[in-house]
Parts: sequence; structure tokens; C-alpha cells
Amino acid sequence: MNHDHPTREDIDRWIDFWGNRFALNGWTIKTKYPARDEERSAAEINWSEGYCSATLTIWPCFFKDTTRYGAWRIICHELLHLCFAPLADELVQQIGDRIVYKSYKRQMERAIDRLAGGLAAVTPIPDSVAPPPPAAAPDSDS
Ligand SMILES: [Zn+2]
Repeated sequence: MNHDHPTREDIDRWIDFWGNRFALNGWTIKTKYPARDEERSAAEINWSEGYCSATLTIWPCFFKDTTRYGAWRIICHELLHLCFAPLADELVQQIGDRIVYKSYKRQMERAIDRLAGGLAAVTPIPDSVAPPPPAAAPDSDS
């Protein structure tokens, strides 16, 4: 089993992990795995108006091209979007101008990605496999 690439089980566990960290416990977050790549990104999250449900879409390239750490960071990034969801929607409503909104979206992406990078780097990935048995105790010197 190759542990360099993420699995669906990793994704489920990491959604729970970051969801707890970001106090998204009231949310129902579903995953969707389309059979073919459609977007240029590996993952995308969409949320409902009431801020209690979201769908995380994971494209096949996520499993092919992403390392386990990269995937860990992406899940963190996508869940951070949910923290900013009400703000993002508010701004879409307030900013009628599509060009301004595009610029805002780009800045928001950068900010979220910086946060995700910082958080993912300092947070150990919860392990999916049982830890290896302890090494045989070295001979005692006494
Ligand atoms: Zn994003």
C-alpha cells in the first residue's frame, strides 16, 4: 500500500479533523468523487445557503498528483473556505461588479492558502494505519 498518496479514508478522517478544529461541527460535509477530471483544481467545496451543509468534490487528479501532505493541506484549505462562507456570500451580494468580485476572490484564495499552509505545516497528520510495533528493547546495560 502506497502511503505517499491520500485515500478516501484519509479524506473522511481529515474532514472530521479540520472540521473539529474549525468548529464546523454543525455542518454536514459530503464528498463527491467524479470519475473524470473537469477542473484545473484537485478539489472544490460548495456550501448551502444556511451554512450547515457542504459538498467537497475531489477529482481523480487529487489521488494521482497529490502527495499525502499536499492532500492534507488541501483538505485544510477547503474547510477554511467554510469558515469564510458567510463573508464570501455577503460580498457577492454587496459587490455587484464582477471584476471587483474576481479580484476579491483571488485575494481570498491567497489568504486562505496561506492560512492552510501555516496550519497544515504545524499540525501532525493523524495516522491512518496502526503504529508499527515497538522496536525490540535494546539490551539493558545493567
Ligand atoms: Zn480555495
